[in-house]
Amino acid sequence: MAARRLVLATRSAHKLRELTELLALPAGVLVSLDDLGVAGDPVEDGATFEANARIKARFAAAATGLPSLADDSGIEVDALDGRPGVLTRRFAGPAATDLDNNRKLLGALAGLPAARRGARYVCVLALALPEARGPRGGLPMILRRGTCRGRIATASRGKCGFGYDPIFEPLREPVGSRTLGLYTAAEKHAISHRARAARRMAPILRDLGFSTDPE
Ligand code: IMP
Repeated sequence: MAARRLVLATRSAHKLRELTELLALPAGVLVSLDDLGVAGDPVEDGATFEANARIKARFAAAATGLPSLADDSGIEVDALDGRPGVLTRRFAGPAATDLDNNRKLLGALAGLPAARRGARYVCVLALALPEARGPRGGLPMILRRGTCRGRIATASRGKCGFGYDPIFEPLREPVGSRTLGLYTAAEKHAISHRARAARRMAPILRDLGFSTDPE
C-alpha cells in the first residue's frame, strides 16, 4: 500500500527544509506544492498568524484533496508594539529581501539598549483535513503555535538559517553573543518557534497515521 501523503503547503525552501527535518516522516509521505504541480498562491490577508496559516492550508487542501500542513510565521518586536507580525516577510516592502528586512529592523531599533530590543518569533502550523468533515460540514482544521523569545542584535552575525536569523539573539545567549545565524540546524531545532509548533503537531500526525513506515 502506498504511504499516505501530507502536503507541505509552502513555497519557502527554508520552511520546507526545516519542517521536513522537524517532522521526520518516512520517505514519500511529505510532498510539496511544487511536487504536485500546484500553481498559484492564496492571498494572505489575515490579521493573525492563525488566520494566514488557515488560508494557506485551505488553499493546498482544496487544490490537492490531500491533508495539508501550512506554516505562517514571523517576528514580533516589543519596541514596535508587536510589528512586523503578519507583515514580517514584507516588512521593507512587497519585494523585500531578507537583507532589506534585516536592515530596516536594525534601523528602526538603532540606539536602543539591549533591554529594549526584546522580540519573539511566532510559528503557527495549520493542518487541513479534506478527507474528514468538520462541524457544520466545514473543512476540519487543527492549529498549533510555537514561540521563541530573544532580542534583536545591533548588527547582523552569521549566515545560517534564513530571514531574520542573523539578527536574532535567542534569550539564552548573552547580549552581543551568538545569533541564530550562527546556530547549527540542530541547535536551532532545539529551541525554535517552528520546532515547538511541530512538536505540538506531531502527536496529531501520529494519530492520523502519518508516522507509520510506508508499505
Ligand atoms: P510567511 O511566509 O508569510 O509565513 O513569512 C514568514 C517570514 O517570517 C519569513 O519570510 C521570514 O522573514 C520570517 N521567519 C519565519 N520563520 C523564521 C525563522 O525561523 N527564521 C528567520 N526568519 C523567519
